[in-house]
Amino acid sequence: MNLLDDPEIRFAVRTVAEGMEIGRRVQKELLGKALSKEDRSPVTVADFAIQILTAARLQQAFPTDPLVAEESSELLRRPEGRPVLEQILRFLPAPLAQEEPARLCDLIDYGHGEPGARFWTLDPVDGTKGFLRGDQYALALALIEGAKVKLGVLGCPNLAASGEEDPTHVGTLFLASRGKGAWAARAEGEFHWQALHVSRRTRPEEIRMIRSYEASHTHVDHMKFLYEKLGLRHPSRLMDSQAKYGVLASGQAEILVYLSSSAARDRQIKIWDQAVGCLLVEEAGGRVTDVEGAPLDFGAGKVLANNRGVTATNGCVHPQTLEALRAIQQGPFKKN
Ligand code: AMP
Ligand code: MG
Repeated sequence: MNLLDDPEIRFAVRTVAEGMEIGRRVQKELLGKALSKEDRSPVTVADFAIQILTAARLQQAFPTDPLVAEESSELLRRPEGRPVLEQILRFLPAPLAQEEPARLCDLIDYGHGEPGARFWTLDPVDGTKGFLRGDQYALALALIEGAKVKLGVLGCPNLAASGEEDPTHVGTLFLASRGKGAWAARAEGEFHWQALHVSRRTRPEEIRMIRSYEASHTHVDHMKFLYEKLGLRHPSRLMDSQAKYGVLASGQAEILVYLSSSAARDRQIKIWDQAVGCLLVEEAGGRVTDVEGAPLDFGAGKVLANNRGVTATNGCVHPQTLEALRAIQQGPFKKN
């Protein structure tokens, strides 16, 4: 059976593949220029352009399905947003590139849909810091039905199937469909899908942990404690975005934990930052829960309001990972 015979899969894969081309071009054409450290304009352009594209494609493919996405058109509707809008137009495919500004803003705000019984959720550029560094980032599009992720597609333009950086910037498409499996394909041509399987590694000395590149996205002390408690030996790999889940689902890492840093303590985890990655790992044979072992609840709105953090593993090492996380809560960091 051809995976793309399924209309939902076909829409999600084609849209993410098209969006990846926008990401590649923006990184190539706008990142090369001398940018001040604070200048986030390239990622802003990519974010908006990919959200516009996805909204337009969704309206054609599934006109009654809501889209729940990260961006809002507020900035673009102001006079100072005009130059950004001009830039966005350069990266949109025809005929979207000929649309009126008001229609483009409306397409962005189409992403303000309500999370209900069935909806799509999009992170147009997950890992914005990675995007700006020229490192890993991902486009993440998921279909949620009945509080569960039904389908997810992740586009990682800078990640090779080997789990290493892709110097050609073709990158990898990851696809997961609930109950059917998880696959990866080089993001060009006809997409030759390969089934994904997590690793079966269990011995502490062979376990590889992968975590956020940005120290502010995690609790560094807690992660160090977890690493030592589990007796790990491999240095943790640092990576931006849900590309981490692609690496875990491909059997190239075993543990991925999102803990809140003290700065991020009150910040709740957004559904579009986790939906695709979690289904990928589960469908590749791994396990995903929150840090207390509860299943993730994608039916609580735009954030994982009923969960604390996220723990994803190859399944084999899930019990001891949760046990070590429990020790963190009860032990040395109790007052933190
Ligand atoms: P990262 O995986 O570090 O590239 O982060 C990807 C996305 O998740 C970004 O939108 C971050 O703001 C968000 N994020 C990362 N860590 C946390 C956390 N501990 N709590 C809530 N959101 C987070
Ligand atoms: Mg994100």
